[in-house]
Amino acid sequence: MTVTEYDLIVRSSNILTPGGRVDGQIAVLDEKIAAILGPDVQAPARKTLDVGDKPVIPGLIDTHCHFRDPGYTHKEDFYNGTIAAAAGGVTTVFDMPNVDPPTTTVDRLKAHLENAQSKSIVDFGHNASGVEPENIQGLADAGATAFKVWMMQDIGRDYPHPPGTSLTNHAVLYRVFEEVKEAGLPLYIHPHDQALYDLFVRRAQAEWGMDFRSYARALRGGDGVVLNTAIATILEFQRSVGTKLHVLHLSTRDGVRMVRDAKAQGRPVTAEANPFALFVTNDWANIEKKGPYALGFWVPENDNPSMWEAVLDGTIDVIGSDHGPHTKEEKEVGWTDMYTAPGGSPMIEQYLRLLLTEVNKGTMPLERVVEMCSTQPAQLTGFYGQKGAILVGADADLVVLDMDHEEVLTASHSHYRCGWMPSEDFNTKGRPVTTILRGRVIMQDGNVTAEAGSGRLLRPHRG
Ligand SMILES: [Zn+2]
Repeated sequence: MTVTEYDLIVRSSNILTPGGRVDGQIAVLDEKIAAILGPDVQAPARKTLDVGDKPVIPGLIDTHCHFRDPGYTHKEDFYNGTIAAAAGGVTTVFDMPNVDPPTTTVDRLKAHLENAQSKSIVDFGHNASGVEPENIQGLADAGATAFKVWMMQDIGRDYPHPPGTSLTNHAVLYRVFEEVKEAGLPLYIHPHDQALYDLFVRRAQAEWGMDFRSYARALRGGDGVVLNTAIATILEFQRSVGTKLHVLHLSTRDGVRMVRDAKAQGRPVTAEANPFALFVTNDWANIEKKGPYALGFWVPENDNPSMWEAVLDGTIDVIGSDHGPHTKEEKEVGWTDMYTAPGGSPMIEQYLRLLLTEVNKGTMPLERVVEMCSTQPAQLTGFYGQKGAILVGADADLVVLDMDHEEVLTASHSHYRCGWMPSEDFNTKGRPVTTILRGRVIMQDGNVTAEAGSGRLLRPHRG
């Protein structure tokens, strides 16, 4: 009888598996979880990591990040962005298509994936731009893992919603639903009504001027009608066509209600919440204090409770970091003219810490964090079984947590090129201490050690 020598064994009395918490040993061979052994089994391994009672969870999967590469690498690039991901416990990323050029064609997608492959230190896929319905089948064949459409266009600026990412014509959008359904991939939509937004922007500028307060209020003119009418429209398109729809940036109480209803009917609808909307911009005091560095979008007081309800009751399926760095120079403008300054803020390195802090406060169990950050993103993208759970046969993507570590967050301890973040000065309790990608330790105590290009492109399973 030959005894298998494993590449790595991770011992913990607190391993979060789909079947519950386990006291045992995760045995890794050839990048995969080969076995989950009992605590007393003697198994030979080249390396053993005994973490005591520290929780071990599956690596996080971020389905919504903006690494600004290619085209805007003065803000960040794929290498730098995935280092921050690894430091935050994220082992798989799916980046968004508002790069230059946006990924609207097969050639652009291929070039994008090649560039990402040369730099990424975590596993990755790409959400291609779905604004050209005639290109969708080709993009799907070339390896897009999902399609993204913004129903929003910028007014008075050309980033972060450049041409090639936005679609405001409902007939074309309906065609996109049809094509993405045929491609067998999920459609991610940033809901927005551009004509209504124009109206509320004009009103906000007339009443409050051009600063960050005016900008924050403009999107929420008419108590969420800019967002809710769009959510109603895309849910109706989904009902009509049957496409797998992922509603991004859910943040209104009526949006929550509509998504909840669609899901109760058994339709393939999922929804995303963003950390900045749960922890930063849901408090006007943060917007006053951090100004353009907080935005993003504001979540008013009458919408905030339904957001957290949706997080706790399962209406929210996925936490997407919406990691979106810009330089300080670009943001500074927003104190006086936020309509010219870009929206978006970096988050990929801190969102797990913010969620663990809520676990420590008793807001939700750690299992719920794993569902929203690992399991359900894996199901949404079609990679469950390979990613998103501590299961035999899955990639050995693991994160060890120190739930007792207290920390005041600061950008100077982050890996961000931009040098700032919206969660600056936040008190947190709980952090990832070790990140393991396919059996290799890529982060230990904040030190990231992985070669550019060591991440692997994920090929989608369509259907
Ligand atoms: Zn985004």
